[in-house]
Amino acid sequence: MTRLSRAAILAVGSEMLTPSRLDTNSLFVTEQLNRLGIEVALKMVVGDDRDELARAVTMMLSRVELVVCTGGLGPTDDDVTREVVAEVLGLTLAEDAAMTERIRSRFSNRGLPMPEINRRQAMVPVGATVIENAHGSAPGLWLERAGRVVVLLPGPPRELQPMLRGLSEGPLRDRGPGLSIVRRVIRITGRSESHTEEAVRGLYADWAVAPIPIAATILASLGQVELQLSARATDAGAAEAALAAATADVSAAIGADVYSTDGRPLEEVVGRLLVEQGLTVAVAESCTGGLTTSRLTDVPGSSRYVAQAVVTYSNESKTSLLGVPAAMIEEHGAVSEPVARAMAQGMRDRAGSEVAIGVTGIAGPDGGSPAKPVGTVAIAVVTPHVIRSRVFRFTGGRDMVKFQASQAALDMVRRLLQEP
Ligand code: AMP
Ligand code: MG
Repeated sequence: MTRLSRAAILAVGSEMLTPSRLDTNSLFVTEQLNRLGIEVALKMVVGDDRDELARAVTMMLSRVELVVCTGGLGPTDDDVTREVVAEVLGLTLAEDAAMTERIRSRFSNRGLPMPEINRRQAMVPVGATVIENAHGSAPGLWLERAGRVVVLLPGPPRELQPMLRGLSEGPLRDRGPGLSIVRRVIRITGRSESHTEEAVRGLYADWAVAPIPIAATILASLGQVELQLSARATDAGAAEAALAAATADVSAAIGADVYSTDGRPLEEVVGRLLVEQGLTVAVAESCTGGLTTSRLTDVPGSSRYVAQAVVTYSNESKTSLLGVPAAMIEEHGAVSEPVARAMAQGMRDRAGSEVAIGVTGIAGPDGGSPAKPVGTVAIAVVTPHVIRSRVFRFTGGRDMVKFQASQAALDMVRRLLQEP
């Protein structure tokens, strides 16, 4: 029997070829297949179109051992997956009487007669294995020809997910390569994608020839860089251990710029540090408009350490609510290190917290000057031991400046709390 080691995913549905809907099923399918050591070699979206569907399935069958199709199993005329795939595999369809009865009873349980069109869902390619659908009327199908497997799953995620989990614990696991692929996401701030790559490039060569090789991908997003590592081995524990070693290599190469080695977001890392050290935090924000506080409070349990926050957008409010001297704003400008420091200190005194953050900047698009262009943000963090401040120059539009400023503020707290 051919081992299923490489798969293709085909999402069927014209709605996913419009700007309004995205195929998300394939992410779940990929996760499930990867756990079994089955690698996803390609994926594709096609509309409810017989020709396109037939060509896509044919192409996929020529390249991989397993094709997973999602969607297009409904009772209506535009649901053609079952028929087209049967045709491609050269299988005829026959009505499965037991299934017609099951579908009929789903309707009669709700006091309804079965519409005649639902009979289509009971048309099963000869030789196919039917996969029960506990959450809807469209059953899934497992089809096989010449050692290649095609699995048809319904489109609605709440129907597809339990079905695929069932397969992952049964036939897919039995037919898979008997490998585990494990992954880890290392998150980094304070350095660019290229600087990250430069620092870790030397590790790649070692990883490639290790007994359990590690594959790495670098992804840059706003205010951070992600390094995704994966390892495959017959023994999931051994793969985990290899990943842990590779993660340690990365931490050694990149140092304090690594903020998370298990994919946790920055706000959660900061929250955990505050809890561990028994500290509370207060936030005084101007240009971020509350975003820093919003992110801190996205974390469940943050009431244990978020004491208080204010958005002091106007100069007057910086003075009246935080006690920033008007003369200081006059002398240095609202966007300046002295003002950010005074905001943090004023916030800490008023909230009675141990840690406080002050953020003041120019999010744009207007309000910049040659000395302080749009994207200039002053941030200060005060702890029981030290006060630190810095001026950043972020690029991008308003949202991007706001996010990067909140990221930098949280990161300054993290670095201070992690210092010995
Ligand atoms: P279908 O099985 O084609 O009748 O799909 C029914 C519904 O499932 C669609 O209207 C979508 O809401 C959802 N759906 C279908 N395919 C996908 C997909 N690839 N990702 C996410 N949702 C999907
Ligand atoms: Mg559809």
